[in-house]
Amino acid sequence: AKAAGKGRHVIFDSSMQVDTLARLELENDLRAAIDGGQLRVHYQPIVPLKSERVTEVEALVRWQHPTQGMISPLDFIPLAEETGLIIPLGLWVLKEACRQAAIWHAQFPIDPPVVISVNLSPRQFQMPDLAEEVERTLQEAGLPARYLKLEITEGTIMLDVEATISTLSRLKAIGIKLAVDDFGTGYSSLAYLKRLPLDVLKIDRSFIKGIAENAEDKAIVQAILLLAKSLNLEVTAEGIENAEQAAMLNSWQCERGQGYYFARPMEADKATALLGRLGLS
Ligand code: C2E
Ligand code: CA
Ligand code: CA
Ligand code: CA
Repeated sequence: AKAAGKGRHVIFDSSMQVDTLARLELENDLRAAIDGGQLRVHYQPIVPLKSERVTEVEALVRWQHPTQGMISPLDFIPLAEETGLIIPLGLWVLKEACRQAAIWHAQFPIDPPVVISVNLSPRQFQMPDLAEEVERTLQEAGLPARYLKLEITEGTIMLDVEATISTLSRLKAIGIKLAVDDFGTGYSSLAYLKRLPLDVLKIDRSFIKGIAENAEDKAIVQAILLLAKSLNLEVTAEGIENAEQAAMLNSWQCERGQGYYFARPMEADKATALLGRLGLS
């Protein structure tokens, strides 16, 4: 996190002139990074709150910059989105994540099997041939579609609701699971929610943070859980950082949790070791 902070400072200088130049340089660097193998995928476990066994991992991209060290996605995803580089970048992450998930499946025939969750940016989601790309990627990786989950934000959903319904339906028809990321932070209309073929709501960690101390946060999270139940959606709580939060969410019948309390995002090797221990138990 320290290295990421340092990278952020160097890249986004506050002075405007430098900013333009630095951004141009960053864009060129990012282009080279995608082609030159500087991107990595880290994996963060997602666990059922009842068992705390890893049944899912979220793929989170990192940039191993040759001179600036590890750069956080918060520092380059927005630029990638702006410039269109998110398309090759996002496809690379999807391919890499599916390839890794297929290896885990061959290695650890555990039950329930590990689902891989991949983030889709707004621009990626609007690609006309997204469903075909995803289907081709699954085939190439040899990964059954039901082991892939795609995460989109409320903002992405609301860009064009009719188009969203059609794209989600095509992905759903392939057999992929669908999640709304950072739920509660955007402006998704509850009326639309019931028209979308979704599986999961991921409650943003800004609400989870305060559930033990703050009555409003607690009320919001409980309301989302109620809403999800009535819409027949499962819920994953993001950003669980302590046992108290995990226990409260479990007592409210929240299905799954993700956060530093269980595990931080980790390299594939470490995730493999973790899954291996579970597979043997
Ligand atoms: P996100 O999709 O909401 O991912 C969860 C973020 O929360 C991750 O940050 C994760 O490390 C962090 N996190 C997990 N548990 C905790 C916790 O207990 N406490 C705190 N404070 N943080 C926690 P990360 O990896 O830095 O990613 C940041 C964002 O960058 C992601 O937020 C996502 O919006 C974006 N991102 C990452 N990888 C990709 C990608 O491959 N494609 C796209 N389009 N976006 C990505
Ligand atoms: Ca996510
Ligand atoms: Ca999220
Ligand atoms: Ca987030």
